Formats: sequence, structure tokens, C-alpha cells
Amino acid sequence: MPLVNTIAKAEDTELGNELHAFAAELYPICRSITGKGIRQTLAAIQGKIPLEFFEVPTGTPVFDWIVPKEWNIRDAFIRNSAGERVVDFQKSNLHVVNYSVPVHATVPLSELRPHLFTIPEHPGWIPYRTSYYKEDWGFCLSHRQMMALADGDYEICIDSTLEDGRLTYGECYLPGESADEVLISCHVCHPSLANDNLSGLAVATFLAKLLAGEALRYSYRFLFIPGTIGAITWLARNHEKAARIRHGLVLTCLGDSGGFHYKKSRRGDAEIDRAAAHILAQCREPSAVLEFSPYGYDERQYCSPGFNLPVGCLMRSVWGSFPEYHTSADNLDFISPLKLAGSLRVCAGILEVLEGNRTYCNLNPFCEPQLGRRGLYRSTGGSEISAEINARLWVLNLSDGSHSLLDIAERSGLPFAAIRDAAELLDSAGLLSSSAGGAHRASGRSANGSNGCGAEGNGLLINH
Ligand SMILES: [Zn+2]
Repeated sequence: MPLVNTIAKAEDTELGNELHAFAAELYPICRSITGKGIRQTLAAIQGKIPLEFFEVPTGTPVFDWIVPKEWNIRDAFIRNSAGERVVDFQKSNLHVVNYSVPVHATVPLSELRPHLFTIPEHPGWIPYRTSYYKEDWGFCLSHRQMMALADGDYEICIDSTLEDGRLTYGECYLPGESADEVLISCHVCHPSLANDNLSGLAVATFLAKLLAGEALRYSYRFLFIPGTIGAITWLARNHEKAARIRHGLVLTCLGDSGGFHYKKSRRGDAEIDRAAAHILAQCREPSAVLEFSPYGYDERQYCSPGFNLPVGCLMRSVWGSFPEYHTSADNLDFISPLKLAGSLRVCAGILEVLEGNRTYCNLNPFCEPQLGRRGLYRSTGGSEISAEINARLWVLNLSDGSHSLLDIAERSGLPFAAIRDAAELLDSAGLLSSSAGGAHRASGRSANGSNGCGAEGNGLLINH
């Protein structure tokens, strides 16, 4: 499945512009963990990929949580005595604390102040605040705006509703050869915030678009869900599907100018952890692999001890590590087309490893097979051994039924794609056979060091 090659055909700028344009289309929508904003967002995603909507009623118990009331908002403002909107939801949906209960009153500034939130260190930015699980109300504004408020009475209005309704999420399922699944999950609950939210969902949408119609080894499930409560709700309703997840990625913060960060699954040595580390090491951008921690995005739920799923999290800059995080400065200028395209390319590379990672048996394990006789020892680069031949020798040497292609890529330091191409060539030349056990054995080394190639391999050696 040449996913990365498919991407390489398109200009990164063109692809990046498409990703950025999709983020820009969704940017103005006032999203939350429930309500019309998330439905409108899912409808836009549905315009690009096959997406099924699920709605779960308010009050539904999901593990230790309860699906909350549905929140919607039409308008909000703070108006001064001259009748001017000094804070206006129509200018930025960040101006209202997300999930604010309705309020309409005229109050003196002293009474209003405890409900105002600013960032004094960045006086021009509006913070993003939520109050999902405590009924409250508030306004977020720039520190400059707040400092300009004169004493006196203000008319405050939050025209919102918080009522019994539904929690909505979207699933895109792409069936593959195997019922084993790869999970791609992103949160879609943040309002006008670009990197933390829109970058992840744009990359996930385009990744699904890229996979749709391909002949796939694994089945893929893309989840577009409200953060925390969405993942908890999905897991509570999908025990059987969760049990089929073999690999998973949470995608977020993928459009900023930072290098990549991959946070390992709770298991720490899952195939997804190794595939991500391998691709990042090869991607020619700065990158770091982080150990698991129980704080972050929805990997917290997928990696809770009852599930302990092999799900990691791919980001560029880590949440909370950049000052623009959860502020109005995380806007469309903070994410760039080229970085979005680079993130999509890395995701595709990781999936390509999962799709292609197999274990083979060398059918000719006693000394090297004569490659020249088979036309497999020609080096186009003159007398120096070519990279292709090097990859073939590594595959032949380590294909003893206990080393996967990813093991071989790691040990040889060669790109996975080169190792996979060599294996496919050697397989078609009759020098390899697929090791029994298929997908589940893909990275399994048996504890006693014996291999999976049967009597024609080690067995003979032992008898000699
Ligand atoms: Zn966030």
C-alpha cells in the first residue's frame, strides 16, 4: 500500500493548502462537547469521508461518568451604559466560558469581575475556558479589554441553553482484510482553536480520505469525538470493538512549527510505539519520543488499566508547552499548510509500517543464496554495494521466523520501506515464505529464542 508515495505525488504545498483550507472552514464554528457546533463540524467531515453519526442521550451512564446536558449558544455580550458591546461573542466565540448557563442582567463592574478571565502576560489574547461539569457562567476577554472597563453598570447577556439533549460523535470505519483494527482518534470539541483541535481533525480526515478505497490489511476506525467524555462514551458502548484494536493513534496539535512528539502507549513497547519512533527517526524533522503519562488527550482513556490499549499520541508541540495553547493566539496563522502536510505524511508513514510489517522465513538459510544467478545482486551504483542489496542481505539474514520487518529495519538502520521492498522482491523470487501466525506474530520474538520457521530452519541445524 504505497500511501506515502501517493502523498509524494501531490505537491506538499497543494495538499497543505487543502488541509489548511479545511481547518479555516471549521474555524468559526462554536464547538463544545455537545450541541449544534459539533454536529455542524461532523457534517463538514462527512462531506469528505464516509462518516456515521452517533447520538447518546443526556443522563446516560458511561462508566463512572454521565452524559451531560446539551449546550447551545446563539449570542453573548457585555454592553456598557452607552449601549456599546464591549465584549461580543459575534467577534470571537472564545469570549464566553464554554458551557456557560444563560444569564441576562445589569450588574455593576464589581459584581461582574469574578466572572471575567484574562491572560495578563499576553494582554492582547483571549483565553479559552470551559465549565462543563459545574454550572456557571463567565466571559473571557483580552487583558487590555478588561483594563479599559470603567466603573459603572453593564448589561450582560449569555443567550445559551443547557438542556437534556444528546452527545454526538462520528465514526468512519474502513474495512480491511482483517477484522483487527487500527484506531485513529481526535477530539472535535474546541471552538475557534486551530492547532489544538482543528489540525488533528483535518489530518485525521485527510488520512481517512487517503485510505478509503485502498486494499487494506487492517480495518480502520476513525473517531471524531468530544474530548474525555466522548472517548469514555465510545469505550463504554463498544467493548467488543475495543477488543479488536491492535494499534491506535490520538492526533492533535499537528499544524504548528514545532518538531514532532510521539507519546508512547501505556505498554511502551507496542508495535505502534516502535512504528512511530522509526518513522520519526527517518522523517528529517526534529522529533522526540516521550514516555507514557496519565495526563494529556484521549490516550488517557484508551490506556486506562481496564483497556490498556496500544494507543499513542502524535503531536508537534506538546499541549501546554506553547504560550498560544488554549488562547485566541492558537489561530489559523499559528498553523501552516506545510506543517499540516508533513504531519499527514508522518501519519501515513506510520500506517504503512503497520500495514507492511510481516515476519518471513528464509527458505535458503544455509549460507547466502546466490543472488547473482537470480539477477538480485546487480548494483547500479558501481562497485559499492547498493542500498537495495544491503536491504536484501539484512532481510535474508534475519528472516528466521522470529524477526519482523520492523525488527530488521530497526537493527539495520535502514528505512522500513526499503526493508519491505526487499522482502517483497525476495518473496517473489521464491527465497522467502511468510511465517505462520500472520499479523499477531508481526513483532513477536519467542521467549526461548527459537524461531518460527519449523524443521527446515533451526531444526536441521540442531540435528547436525
Ligand atoms: Zn485542548
